[in-house]
This record gives sequence, structure tokens and C-alpha cells, in this order.
Amino acid sequence: MSATPRSGASAFLDVRDLTVSFPTSTGHTDVVSHLDLTLDAGGALGIVGESGSGKSLTSLAIMGLLPPSATRSGRVLLGGDDLTSMSEPQLRRVRGDRVAMVFQDPLSSLNPYYTVGKQIEEAYCSHRRGVTRRQARAVAVEAMERVHIKEAGRRVDDYPHQFSGGMRQRVMIAMALSTEPELLIADEPTTALDVTVQAQILELLQEIRRDTGLALVLITHDLAVVSEIADHVVVMRRGECVEMGPVEAIFSDPQHEYTRDLLDAVPRIDDEIAALRPVAATGGRA
Ligand code: ADP
Ligand code: MG
Repeated sequence: MSATPRSGASAFLDVRDLTVSFPTSTGHTDVVSHLDLTLDAGGALGIVGESGSGKSLTSLAIMGLLPPSATRSGRVLLGGDDLTSMSEPQLRRVRGDRVAMVFQDPLSSLNPYYTVGKQIEEAYCSHRRGVTRRQARAVAVEAMERVHIKEAGRRVDDYPHQFSGGMRQRVMIAMALSTEPELLIADEPTTALDVTVQAQILELLQEIRRDTGLALVLITHDLAVVSEIADHVVVMRRGECVEMGPVEAIFSDPQHEYTRDLLDAVPRIDDEIAALRPVAATGGRA
């Protein structure tokens, strides 16, 4: 069974029978178990599930970045190339050129002692040979403009602490996009941000998808986030896929109780209005 039902054509990202295990005192435990998923070029796949369901390890397994104690089986095909049979240097090229990742906490991903521009330049230069400093700087400024950081030409010389959380996440996205990847894996990219900023970052990801045709794997514990952006969704629980399909189908007719529970946890706009009403009724704000 695959997350994107298809008729014969091969998917851009095709993960087959992925299993990730860790050793235990009595043997081993599977934290991702026989997972299949596919994503078309330019598509957006949401992976949802509660904390500990195996979402991050799935993305690390796709990228070949699992901790050394983990074992992986199954296949990961990207544009028909089998990442699981590549050497480390080949994989590094794939990670720089074709796939990029954005993580939850933009602050811990940025080095406080270097300007954001320097860090984007470094990321770019580590994947592009023979680039001059000037070219790299131009790429950094352009990447920052692309994620709508105002006065990018000046702010490129600022340090991470001079940016808000949302702006730092924009910097991380700029860094990820600087090498023009075909696939972006975003692991809880908005979880550390407040709701308004979350919406802005999701809007930015949508815009980038529209403009570049980038394929997106969006990992989140929040089905509301998936509904904003993804066209297909995989629901994970304890390392297994419990349900998958087009977003509308999962939202309108969830088959699994676990999916229904996740949906029940999504705040609805009418609930929020109801919650606000007493404040409005008393006419006051703190
Ligand atoms: P999620 O991203 O969905 O919150 P993870 O993919 O990070 O979940 O983790 C899935 C499971 O694997 C969790 O139960 C976690 O405790 C376990 N796990 C993660 N990393 C390790 C590790 N290095 N060694 C052993 N177990 C791990
Ligand atoms: Mg995670």
C-alpha cells in the first residue's frame, strides 16, 4: 500500500518496507516498522503521529543520517536512485544537492558565534566547489530575500540572536534552499513557534513549493498543520503506518480510531471563538 496511489509510473521519492531498529538488552526493538511511502515530484506529503511514533527516525533513515546504533532495512529511492546502496560520499552529494532538511528548533541549529550570512555561505560552499566568497554572499542575500527577510543585504551580517524565532526559521529555510534541492524534509518546522508565526512559515513553504516545484515531506504531530499544506498524509503510530491517503479523505473519513483521536485534538475555529467570547462579553482586556 502506498501513500500516493499511482498507476505504474515511478514516484520521485519511494520508500519501501523501511524498518529501523535499536538494540535492547533482550534483542532489538523496531521503532519504524515496514513503512511504505511515496511522493510525486512537486508533491507534499505529511507524516503525522504523536511524539515517539517514529517520524523523525523515518526522515533520518531516508537521509542516511541515523545514529550508529540503529539498523535500517528496506529501500529508499529518490528519482529512481537507491540511496540505501550509496557510499557516504555519494550520499553527502545527494544531501547537498537534491535533498535538504529543516528542523524544529532554529536556534539550536544555528551557531551563535557566526553571522547568519556566514552560515548560509558555509552551507552553500560545502556543497558547491570553486565558489568565490562574493558569489556565496550573493547566494546568501538572495536566499534571505526569497524567504522575505527585509533588508537582506544588511541583515546577512547579523547574528542569530538578533532575529526572532520565526525569522530564524526563515534563515534555516533559506539555508536549506540555497542549494536548490528537489526535496525538502521539514521536521516539525513550526512546532517551536507561536500560532501567528506558524501560519506565516507555512505560507512561506507553500509559496516556495508553488514557485520552485520543490517536493515537501512535512513532519508534524499536528494534523492542522498537515491540512494547510500537504496533499497526502501518512498517519504513524508506534513506528507503523496506521492510515494513509489524500488529505481530504483522511480528514473527512478517517478509518482508524487513532486518526480520529488526532483529529479530535485539532482546535477548531468555532472553539476558539467560543473561548474568546467571555473576554469580549466583559468588554475588557488585561
Ligand atoms: P517522533 O519524531 O515521532 O517523535 P522519533 O522518530 O524521534 O519519534 O522516535 C521514535 C522512537 O524511537 C521513540 O520511541 C524513541 O524513544 C526511539 N528512539 C529514538 N532515538 C533513539 C536512540 N538513539 N536509541 C534508542 N531509541 C531511540
Ligand atoms: Mg520528532
